[in-house]
Amino acid sequence: MENRHLIIGSHVSMSGKEMMEGSVREALSYGANTFMLYTGAPQNTRRRPVEELRVPQAQRLMEANGIADFVVHAPYLINLANTVRPETRESSIRFLIDEMERTRLMGSRLLILHPGAHVGAGAEAGIKSIVRGLDEVLSQSRDVLIALETMSGKGSELGRSFEELAAIYDGVSQNHRLRVCFDTCHTHDAGYDIARDPDSVLARFDRILGLNQIAVFHINDSKNEKGAAKDRHADIGEGKIGFEPLNYLVHLPEFSSIPHILETPWYPDPDNPGKTLPPYGREIAWFRAGRQLPL
Ligand code: FE
Ligand code: FE
Ligand code: ZN
Repeated sequence: MENRHLIIGSHVSMSGKEMMEGSVREALSYGANTFMLYTGAPQNTRRRPVEELRVPQAQRLMEANGIADFVVHAPYLINLANTVRPETRESSIRFLIDEMERTRLMGSRLLILHPGAHVGAGAEAGIKSIVRGLDEVLSQSRDVLIALETMSGKGSELGRSFEELAAIYDGVSQNHRLRVCFDTCHTHDAGYDIARDPDSVLARFDRILGLNQIAVFHINDSKNEKGAAKDRHADIGEGKIGFEPLNYLVHLPEFSSIPHILETPWYPDPDNPGKTLPPYGREIAWFRAGRQLPL
């Protein structure tokens, strides 16, 4: 049962002369009909002006190929929960406001954000700080929604439980502009039994946040055991979750209109040691087919 309508893609890069046009080309090379990008290097906050990103060219290419939607991921070093170093928090807020505007100008409605890490101040202080930060960011931006990602709980990361995400929703004034990015590797690493009982995990999510709050999935296998609080992604079918539960989630009809994004690691090229290759083309083909096709 080939599923053409499944909205599935991967993280793609944006660099060189082609910029966003190159991102779309990369997505198309994998057979994707959606994609996720960072507006610059995920590890830093240096950003080129949106006018240099070849957005109109990218949008034309998307339109010509039936890509209706893509998502943006905020860089990792943004930390709205850092009450220990107020400068980090302040610069995070300013950067996020700009990032919301870049996301809007690039033509996406969804910015994915790691809620933050409390770096020793405790979960309660961290969540309060995230709430105040989001209030500021949302009041100084428009149109774009923020999707809080479910986290693995490594270090002092917040958002490792659905209850922590709900506490953020409860505090934020414009919480109608919040959504969730459900990462399968992270929820597994946080202790949810995605591998053996995805229905119960989703039922729990539904009670606490509501399934309609999931605006995007990150579909990843995990290198670690359930509850390891590690966050190490594995290629699809190569980890502790396995292909079948991920395939089941990807094909749930209630999520047929939202993007499913692969963030699986590149693997070593058998013909060219030292080089790596993206697994996305074959993983997208597997999910469209509903089974792992022979390599
Ligand atoms: Fe993420
Ligand atoms: Fe993720
Ligand atoms: Zn991760």
